[in-house]
Amino acid sequence: MSAKMKTDDRMEKIVSLCKRRGYVFPSSEIYGGLISCWDYGPLGAELKRNLKNFWWDTMTARRNDIEGLDAAILMHPQVWHTSGHVEEFNDPMVDCKKCKARFRADKVDESRCPMKPSKTPHECDGELTEVRNFNLMFKTYMGPVEDSSAIIYMRPETAQGIYVNFLNVKNSSRQKIPFGIAQIGKAFRNEITPGNFIFRTREFEQMEMQFFIHPSEDVQWFKYWREQRWEFYKNLGINMEKLRWHEHGPDELAHYAKAAYDIEYEYPFGWQELEGVHNRTDFDLTRHMEATKKDMRYFDERFEEKFVPYIIETSAGCDRTLLTLLVDAYDEIEIKGEQRVFLRLSPRISPIKAAILPLVKKQGMPEFAQKVYQELGRKFKLFYDESGAVGRRYARMDEAGTPFCITVDGQSLEDETMTVRDRDTMEQTRMKVAELQDFLDKKVHG
Ligand code: ATP
Repeated sequence: MSAKMKTDDRMEKIVSLCKRRGYVFPSSEIYGGLISCWDYGPLGAELKRNLKNFWWDTMTARRNDIEGLDAAILMHPQVWHTSGHVEEFNDPMVDCKKCKARFRADKVDESRCPMKPSKTPHECDGELTEVRNFNLMFKTYMGPVEDSSAIIYMRPETAQGIYVNFLNVKNSSRQKIPFGIAQIGKAFRNEITPGNFIFRTREFEQMEMQFFIHPSEDVQWFKYWREQRWEFYKNLGINMEKLRWHEHGPDELAHYAKAAYDIEYEYPFGWQELEGVHNRTDFDLTRHMEATKKDMRYFDERFEEKFVPYIIETSAGCDRTLLTLLVDAYDEIEIKGEQRVFLRLSPRISPIKAAILPLVKKQGMPEFAQKVYQELGRKFKLFYDESGAVGRRYARMDEAGTPFCITVDGQSLEDETMTVRDRDTMEQTRMKVAELQDFLDKKVHG
């Protein structure tokens, strides 16, 4: 981030850039929007897909000790009793007696009064009610009869889909412990105070991996997965000075966890959790085993014993990581008296890898540029733009997060070279068409 940039209004600027460039739109906007719900536009959908692919490659596709899964969102309602979510997945809540607004009791200091957004709830004159517990699960009915026997929950985490499939995956894949199951999917939480754009929403996507191990090896695997997840963010191109670990104290630990660390990022609204790495012990499998009478124990030849595996979980929010990428990449600098915005996303995940720009709309340049666009476009997501001054076109691409602009000029027609402009250094290099593919390949898949 440039030193000149003001940090206080960064979120507003990012929200507006996301709308302008087609990253994220308010959901159902023509009806006035729906609070805390967002739609990903063309660039946002592409960025999200790149992020998920990168996670999937890192956590599953390139490892032979992790299997993938895609479980249903709706699960047997008993699952959520067994997991403890029906009884314990609560947030403490308080209401303002004056304006009736509802706040998370443990986040009152970070919340804003809806009547006076410059103030926190207890700073306005409204008195707050006693703290009450509020269950975060969305409930609905399955089938035509709306009675208590038809109640079903929208899953509040993807993890339970993995636990109930532990035996299926183990038996079908013939994996031996230690091994993991990874899943990307939607989760739903009726958050009391959603907000900060896509940071906390009621519908969101998680990227979770559950690693099944012998109980005696939990400390070493817990450490290993913390290191792996730290490395993941480094490879995503995140500024590592903006990341830190937060270890949960005994009063913060979830009901299922023996130890937990969060990876936190310094957002414009403060340090907040980006991902959790948890030692969930044998809590989940033992509970499901007791409830279903299915034997979840594993016989390990190394230890010559049967045991319920311990689980190390890595749980990241996809939307929250996407916000992190946007916040981290957002930059503003002044160039020749003009305030310019740059989205410095790494080529690995940027939605558009390069723009193809004929310098002028004549002398055969558009035809040449179109040929390059068609050829390279078979391998990379590109953008073709021939309208307006080339400086303006560069500026649009800088703001959209496109790392390279490839310009076709008079010389291109003579010797088949083009200039490649790097968004971050603004340096221009001449390259042959044949060299471009290799160049982009290295930058994108590096
Ligand atoms: P928080 O303390 O922020 O409510 P949590 O500790 O309840 O989060 P987990 O249950 O550990 O979160 O979920 C794992 C990850 O899922 C979080 O690190 C976060 O990235 C993401 N996540 C959780 N709740 C939300 C939400 N409401 N909106 C977007 N992402 C979320």
